[in-house]
Amino acid sequence: MEIKKIGVIGAGTMGNGIAQTAALIGCDVVLRDVQDSFVERGMKNIEKFLSKSVEKGKMQAAEKDAVLGRIKGTTDMKQLKDVDFVVEAVIEDLDLKKSVFKELDELCRPETILASNTSSMSLTEIAAATKRPDKVCGMHFFNPVPLMKLVEVIRGFATSDETVAVTTALAKKMGKITVEVKKDSPGFIVNRIMIPHMLEAIKIVEEGIASIPDVDIAVKNGLNYPMGPFELMDLTGIDIAYFVTEYFYKELNKESKWVSPNLLKTMIRAGKLGRKTGAGWYDYSQK
Ligand code: NAD
Repeated sequence: MEIKKIGVIGAGTMGNGIAQTAALIGCDVVLRDVQDSFVERGMKNIEKFLSKSVEKGKMQAAEKDAVLGRIKGTTDMKQLKDVDFVVEAVIEDLDLKKSVFKELDELCRPETILASNTSSMSLTEIAAATKRPDKVCGMHFFNPVPLMKLVEVIRGFATSDETVAVTTALAKKMGKITVEVKKDSPGFIVNRIMIPHMLEAIKIVEEGIASIPDVDIAVKNGLNYPMGPFELMDLTGIDIAYFVTEYFYKELNKESKWVSPNLLKTMIRAGKLGRKTGAGWYDYSQK
């Protein structure tokens, strides 16, 4: 099955990166968000990233124009009716994702694969909102999408081998390294490992054991990680870390290790969600 036209739902941090990556391999892309301003912001981010690639000599200006020309931003869901493949990248809210998949199922051709970029949630439950659960899977990219190599391909209960094969082949064509997550389990591989280390980092600060910068310095230099947990949360969104933690608590037997630390909740209440809001664990207002 050749994928020529891809729909991306959500033009935020992940959606615009996915749209760019798909257009770079020659696919036509429809990038949909709910407001014109969100679509424009997503398109601007793509333009900015590609312009930097041109400045660095990694891309010709003509190629940049061609890539941009293949991406059509819209608020109209109907523009996705003839796409071959969809990647959903709306916020990490299960009810919202289910309603988006129901709408896509009614709109798209029966053979179209509907993939979700969810960080943690059940593909089985998302697929149950459609009449094509065999054609629903997880396609979990990492941030920033154009640079990060990994894609987790996740099976829901009814996902077919063909859906996994087509999704894996598409990710590989995008230059990604893929892993197959054989069972639908919260957080898949990477987030199941990453969230506990973020929560421990927050608890270390809450308990007064060390400062935020010192935790980041310790992890980078002691574990040889490229970023500390606080820097990483600021990049990926503190709200995402919170939503995933709350989901783990609900899904993984309400174990105390998955209770959101008070400091994490305070950050959400204060609207300090990381780089995207200009401040998170660190301040980015001057950058
Ligand atoms: P984001 O908040 O940056 O963007 C989400 C976008 O979805 C917003 O622009 C919002 O307006 C839009 N949206 C909401 N409802 C919509 C609808 N019905 N139709 C179209 N657009 C709609 O969020 P994000 O960080 O890009 O995360 C998106 C998804 O990707 C989440 O499921 C998240 O867990 C996952 N994810 C995020 C990261 C990360 O590092 N941020 C990494 C991997 C996966």
